[in-house]
Amino acid sequence: MGVKKPEGERRTSPVAGAYTLVRSRRRTVGLEIRPDATLVVRAPMLAPVSYVESILMQRAGWISAKLALVRSRASLVPRHDFLTGERFPYLGQEWPFVVVAFQKQPLTFDAKTGFTLDVAAFDRGEVVFEEWYRTQARELLIERVQHYAPLVGVSVPRLRISGAERRWGSCSTSGTVSFAWRLVMAPMDVIDYVVVHELAHLREMNHSVRFWAIVASVLPDHDARRRWLKEHGGSLTI
Ligand SMILES: [Zn+2]
Repeated sequence: MGVKKPEGERRTSPVAGAYTLVRSRRRTVGLEIRPDATLVVRAPMLAPVSYVESILMQRAGWISAKLALVRSRASLVPRHDFLTGERFPYLGQEWPFVVVAFQKQPLTFDAKTGFTLDVAAFDRGEVVFEEWYRTQARELLIERVQHYAPLVGVSVPRLRISGAERRWGSCSTSGTVSFAWRLVMAPMDVIDYVVVHELAHLREMNHSVRFWAIVASVLPDHDARRRWLKEHGGSLTI
């Protein structure tokens, strides 16, 4: 069953971004976040746009929270065409990207110049990038897990790098800790939060008060790191 887009006027507000304004015989302004992460504003026939905008202003917090939630649920759509000038995320930064000819390796990274893709690998850019991110994820996460395990009070677990799209980390009852390779796109302090979170599950297999006390004992500012991931996690894609 297809989802019909509501007919209406496309508008942009400084607080809510793009939205569709649908006027009808109603008395109040109603807001709806659609599954495709678009905002529909329903308003009375004669309500001035300035009034509608003032409502958007009042509800700005709700709108951005809802949009973030819907975006985090949507499946990850590749956002790159592998063209020179695009940027790719790694460790919390957006790095420059160029396509070149006659490079030994399909993809290289340099903290000065960013990513360089050999033109011969152009049509498998997504695969080449995923391989690269996976390698970095494994190296980095082994190191971070070894660093944090004693601080959390657990022994170093077996580690798995996964292709999960919605879970940044998980912990199995057998004690294997998994991390999504996409996690290396996030800033270091966010990566560390996910590491500590999963290691804490080796002591508490739940999200109880005791669990969060363990996380807080290692990372007192875990809340802000978790929020970053909620708000920006959806943009961490190839
Ligand atoms: Zn958890």
